[in-house]
Amino acid sequence: MEFTPTELERYSRQIQIPGFGEDGQKRLKDTVAIVTGVGGLGGTVALYLAVAGVGKIVLVRGGNLRLDDLNRQILMTNSWVGQPRVYKAKETILNINPDIHVEVIPEFVTSENIEDLVRKSNIAFDCAFDFTERDLLNTACVRWKVPMIEAAMSGMEAYLTTIVPGETPCLSCIFPEKPKWDRWGFGVLGAVSGSLACLAALEGIKLLTGVGETLKGQLLTMDLGNTTFAKRRPYHDPECPTCGGLKR
Ligand SMILES: [Zn+2]
Repeated sequence: MEFTPTELERYSRQIQIPGFGEDGQKRLKDTVAIVTGVGGLGGTVALYLAVAGVGKIVLVRGGNLRLDDLNRQILMTNSWVGQPRVYKAKETILNINPDIHVEVIPEFVTSENIEDLVRKSNIAFDCAFDFTERDLLNTACVRWKVPMIEAAMSGMEAYLTTIVPGETPCLSCIFPEKPKWDRWGFGVLGAVSGSLACLAALEGIKLLTGVGETLKGQLLTMDLGNTTFAKRRPYHDPECPTCGGLKR
């Protein structure tokens, strides 16, 4: 796949990064990325994948925009309140970068829709708001051996990891018992969801291009209330009900 002169100019500053080059850019262009959730986290992930030149982004999220989303959902506009988020997300992204493709699925993640979407993707970004959707995406990613960037937050706390099925612990290994985070029950600040989103997008870009080092097999935990970061290696459970049967 060749680049147009417009694309080469658009991405010229990142192509200059050591180890990135046109090869890295081509890897991004050849990628289909699925993002579940288009909120403060998923919408911002999608934005940074888009400006980096990921060739196709698939946005999966049901529901309409609410006024209280606007403190963090930077792809949205005030006049869009009451309408489905995914269409405005696509419009904003394509206004910024018309050289990529965006597909929108105005639905929540279900066992019916997720398998086919993951099967056609090269990478997944888990930005869903509850663990039911997160588990469905994790299971589909393990089945189709699709890497998954896992990002979640509650208040000022956040975590991030990169899951490569067969190589690293999966989400079920890391959280055999789910954190009791209530999807509407916690406060959220746009700068916190945005910080996590930038790190999640960067994690995907590093995994795809080979630039830098990823969080494969490492869980990054962040307390942004006091700006504390820590990394640990979660247990890779050979008896995991989700990924236990996969060859390592
Ligand atoms: Zn597992």
